[in-house]
Amino acid sequence: MSLSGPIICPVCGKKAKTGSAIDCARHMFGTGDQPHRKWVEAQGLSFIDLLIEQATTPGNRSYVLLGEIIQKDAEKREAEKK
Ligand SMILES: [Zn+2]
Repeated sequence: MSLSGPIICPVCGKKAKTGSAIDCARHMFGTGDQPHRKWVEAQGLSFIDLLIEQATTPGNRSYVLLGEIIQKDAEKREAEKK
């Protein structure tokens, strides 16, 4: 399934840079305030664990992981709109 538009942050409604899911994930980590943390935790992830992993291991695994969840959430919400 593909999206008709860019990914919008499910928390604050901002479009992060190119509007890709990865950029949105990076935006969530970069913002890191209470509402963004809560959204990540609500997906069954630990915001802190992802942040630590991102800081201590090479690559973008945390961004990719969260990006996939953001993508699925955006697809779900788009499907619900129809
Ligand atoms: Zn946001």
